Amino acid sequence: ASDTLDTIWMDGEFIPWEDATIHVLSHALHYGTSVFEGVRCYETADGPALFRWDAHLDRLYNSAAMYDLDIGFDREELTTATLELLARQDLGGCYVRPIAFYGYDRLGVSPTTPTKLPERVAIAAWPWESYLGESALEDGIDAGVSSWRKYGHDQIPPTAKTTGAYVNGVLATDEAARNGYDEAIVLNSEGNVAEGPGENLFLVDDGEIYTPGLAEDALDGITRQSVIELAREAGYTVHDDARIGRGELYTADELFFTGTAAEVTPIRSVDDRAIGAGSKGPVTDDLQTRFFDLVSGPVDTHEAWFTRVH
Ligand code: PMP
Repeated sequence: ASDTLDTIWMDGEFIPWEDATIHVLSHALHYGTSVFEGVRCYETADGPALFRWDAHLDRLYNSAAMYDLDIGFDREELTTATLELLARQDLGGCYVRPIAFYGYDRLGVSPTTPTKLPERVAIAAWPWESYLGESALEDGIDAGVSSWRKYGHDQIPPTAKTTGAYVNGVLATDEAARNGYDEAIVLNSEGNVAEGPGENLFLVDDGEIYTPGLAEDALDGITRQSVIELAREAGYTVHDDARIGRGELYTADELFFTGTAAEVTPIRSVDDRAIGAGSKGPVTDDLQTRFFDLVSGPVDTHEAWFTRVH
């Protein structure tokens, strides 16, 4: 932790960063029973503000409900805790990571029978530049289609952000890195495009925008929802339940990723094939500009998307 990062909120208290530890026999460590969110706080022209905090809280509580996990703190308590956490560390623009999980008591697989395991919750925050790098935002990234497939709704609910499920993304990301790519694109069990390991994928063809949705086993990303809304407001036609075959990636005019961490990142090649001109395309550039203008400008549109820190 850097000088200013000294506090984590855990189970209702602000504690020193280095004391935010858990028992090695915690259920979540063994069976992946944590649910989490990634949220950005942006330095808007009106001061720091959490972006789409309410939508992230909705998803956090829904993820928890999937595993009968009672977070034990209501929305207002988590909001107050987060705002104070940011203020205490004087964090301006940063990334916020709430996580709730089953703790330590016994190591049977069920966290609910015969009794409920202890339910724990923590929130940490730190500065984090765009996930795929600042230069990636301008130049785009090289992606590779993963040989690992995304799990389906009948295997692990892709609607929930569950830590255990992220081993799928770990395998895909590491495979991509070994093959020299910046990021993976993961197909679903049918062989259609699902998403990236931590991003949603968008395709531009003939000026229209396509993105796979829940039916294709993608997470309904909050950046995805925001970009869809911004694109429609700008007059684009957006198909938000698209079925995209692997070959359609290669012939797309433009491709880009969205995500809280990745923001709006152009994809300049897939499997060593240049996409479009092999650089950030015009529609991607337009939407990326609209997105960054929104989160850095005065909060005068989409006010409901922002929760001010001060
Ligand atoms: N897909 C996956 C698998 C993710 O982990 C993320 C990051 N939360 C996304 C998509 C993008 O979602 P969001 O825009 O809500 O961050």
